Amino acid sequence: NASGSEVAAFLDTGICRLKDSNAVFIDPVRVLNRSYTRFRVSPSAYYCRAFESKSPPEPSVSSNSRKRKRKEKKPRALNDREQVADRRHQAVRPFLLKAHESLVGATEVLEVMSNLRGGFGPSTSSPPGVELAQVWQAPLCEICLNFHTRDIAGEDGGSPITQCHEQRVLPVFNNLIVNETGDDVEAQVLNSRYILPPNSSFYMSDMGQIHNLIPAEPDCGFNIIVVDPPWENGSARQKSRYKTLPNRYFLSLPIKQLCHTDGALVALWVTNREKLRGFVENELFPAWGVAHVATFFWLKVKADGSLICDLDLFHHRPYECLLVGICHGKVMNCKQLLGSEPIPDNQIIISVPGDYSRKPPIGGLLQEYAPRLKGGRCVELFARELAAGWVSWGNEPLHFQESRNFVTE
Ligand code: SAM
Repeated sequence: NASGSEVAAFLDTGICRLKDSNAVFIDPVRVLNRSYTRFRVSPSAYYCRAFESKSPPEPSVSSNSRKRKRKEKKPRALNDREQVADRRHQAVRPFLLKAHESLVGATEVLEVMSNLRGGFGPSTSSPPGVELAQVWQAPLCEICLNFHTRDIAGEDGGSPITQCHEQRVLPVFNNLIVNETGDDVEAQVLNSRYILPPNSSFYMSDMGQIHNLIPAEPDCGFNIIVVDPPWENGSARQKSRYKTLPNRYFLSLPIKQLCHTDGALVALWVTNREKLRGFVENELFPAWGVAHVATFFWLKVKADGSLICDLDLFHHRPYECLLVGICHGKVMNCKQLLGSEPIPDNQIIISVPGDYSRKPPIGGLLQEYAPRLKGGRCVELFARELAAGWVSWGNEPLHFQESRNFVTE
């Protein structure tokens, strides 16, 4: 069980290191809300999918489910690729089981999560605003940033004069938009309102313009690069959410040029398709100049702590993989870049999923694994949200920043 101080730390940071396993449980809403000043991510908007509690937590493997019995009656021999995928699954399975066991034992943390949508008022039901990914071709579309300054002392030193506003109007596409202040900024594009966290920036463009992010000076490159490409997969749901691209398109991403001269940590989200894993390991990472050093797993649970589906379902795993690699710089080698401790393999990050394909905020965890890179520049590629201290690039980096996803305290 988690101790009182661990629960207090979880309430504060949204991160709980689970005992006796290499796992952390995170509440993305708490993690994200650490950086906002006037707004809060609404839990009911974040946890918009139905992953409701059903106590007590179900076991990780439900061998008595009807579906499974049916499957067990007619076992089909696995083809070569499926066998490789199964070997990968069997290798990580004990780590996932141990991590889940630790979560089920952390009853105080689960108790907090059982009311994960509560605490910040009613659920937001306003319809989504304009789909910016669909209109990025409109080159003249503008964003209006409303800077907000609070509590300026009065001339006579008396009571403060509150709220001085400054507006900036800029092209929203193919342009780096920066909130360099330590405060949240409200912005407007067409008829939609967006919230930009402190010290965040974004560049909204198609892949054809990504080279504009390459720094003029190599020592201004990025130290941490998180990539979540729009991989092709058969999911009809995914097809309606955003456009996907064939694997070979990602070979030309200028990862090497985006890296700091000292080198960088590159973290790539991949699906469980074995063909994709092979492509990344044999073609994509080598093309990017990235050496694979560790694999992390995102284990998805419901609000009651049970897995979102059976651990051993072959075509629908309750986890996704994050491949962590190093892009060596000219100056430092891997050891100098990361410090004395190597990045540990098979780290498990557990959380309740948000909207379709939305990944948990792992930036802070990556910085902990690479302490020497703390304070360096960070970028997320194909981002759908902004983060304090990070640059977000993609064709819809404002997607989850729409004001209907936020509440004010
Ligand atoms: N990491 C994101 C999250 O947690 O919400 C999900 C990213 S999603 C897998 C891939 C993103 O790439 C989508 O937002 C999609 O619109 C974007 N995308 C697709 N084609 C693109 C292109 N040609 N240029 C830039 N972004 C593109």
